[in-house]
Amino acid sequence: MQVRYHCPNSECVAIIEYEPLESSPGSIDCPRCKQTHPLNVSESMVREKTVDNCAVCGNRELFIRKDFPQKIGFAVVLVAGLSSIYFFRTNFMLAYIVLAAAVVIDLLLYFVIGKVTTCYACRAEYRKSVLNPAHEGFDLATSEKY
Ligand SMILES: [Zn+2]
Ligand SMILES: [Zn+2]
Repeated sequence: MQVRYHCPNSECVAIIEYEPLESSPGSIDCPRCKQTHPLNVSESMVREKTVDNCAVCGNRELFIRKDFPQKIGFAVVLVAGLSSIYFFRTNFMLAYIVLAAAVVIDLLLYFVIGKVTTCYACRAEYRKSVLNPAHEGFDLATSEKY
């Protein structure tokens, strides 16, 4: 399992990635601010690769979202948009084909990408884990508690 989170030190902007979380020593030194902070790996993370509570902040409410690579999605839309503008003036049919291809690529990306478990409280992200059936998609009402 891989964890990715913002350094808990509020004055630090580091994004820390650790893998495999299962073999974490229990605490980590931030590579930027050098502060040591705990990383609490639970029993179920070690044995089942399932996140039950957040290893960074201990919060028990997490949600699951698609791990959509936003930069790639944006690039596809941008390239398709620009080239279709060009083709609309020269070859109308081709412009439509380019736009249709962009939609198909976006859809394909949507289906092949993985899922990521995210902490409501600190937004730590857990990848390559076995999804916890107790976790659901993002819920705005739950999110507003934090
Ligand atoms: Zn830090
Ligand atoms: Zn958390």
